[in-house]
Amino acid sequence: MKPDEKCGNCKYFVRASKDKNTGECHRHAPRPNPRPKMQIEGKDLWADTQWPKVAANTWCGDFEQK
Ligand code: SF4
Repeated sequence: MKPDEKCGNCKYFVRASKDKNTGECHRHAPRPNPRPKMQIEGKDLWADTQWPKVAANTWCGDFEQK
């Protein structure tokens, strides 16, 4: 793994709207959410699926350059 092969540089990473250091991995379809009642940007939501949340400075073996 090269040092810049991190989630933040991956084509599957979608940055969170407010926090540039976190985002969602869109490599695969959304997954079942074990705790479906959640808040997003201060609003109560009932989301039974969600994208995996990842930090921009982490990585996985599926990394692909943007
Ligand atoms: S490096 Fe892996 S976990 Fe991170 S955004 Fe890319 S595919 Fe998802």
